[in-house]
Formats: sequence, C-alpha cells, structure tokens
Amino acid sequence: MSRSSSAHMPKNWRDRLPDVATYYARHVQNLSKPNATGWATGACPFHVDRNASLSVHVAGDRGHWRCSASCGGGDLVGFHMRLHRMDFKTAVRDLVGLGVAA
Ligand SMILES: [Zn+2]
Repeated sequence: MSRSSSAHMPKNWRDRLPDVATYYARHVQNLSKPNATGWATGACPFHVDRNASLSVHVAGDRGHWRCSASCGGGDLVGFHMRLHRMDFKTAVRDLVGLGVAA
C-alpha cells in the first residue's frame, strides 16, 4: 500500500459518507434493531465472534462502533479502513464513491 498517494480529498467528504445505518446493515452480520439510544449489535468482523460483540451507533452521523472483545472502536471511516486494510484517504475515497485508485 502506497503512503505517497496524491489522491484528492473532496472538501465536503464527510457530508458525502454513506448513511450510517445503511452502511452497517450491509457490512455487519446479524445486526440487531437499534436500542433506545441508537446502538445496534452484531457480529464483529475483526475477530471470530459468536456473541454479537460489536456495537454500532446507527443513530449517529459519525458511525461510532466498539467491540466488547479486544478489537477497540472508532468511527465509520475507521471501521472501513480496518475492514479493508485501507489507509485513511483511500477509505474516504472509497466511501464517498470516488474509487480506490491512487
Ligand atoms: Zn471484535
């Protein structure tokens, strides 16, 4: 993976990120309905998970997530980076539909 990518970041990239609930419904297995505070649970894709250890904030616009095992947490961009082993810029470009080409 190249760290010297000169890919442009659109200024309004955060506004162009996919809908959090739609994104996680597509990327998390066995995602539950959100609870009263907007958190849903599902299978964590970062470890072998039989206990729905992943919590995702589908009601929030940053897409925060956390794993109750040892995978940590972050926001939607961090989730995408980790899921596809992308660097930050590449993940953002992929998420806003600009493709992953450097
Ligand atoms: Zn995990």
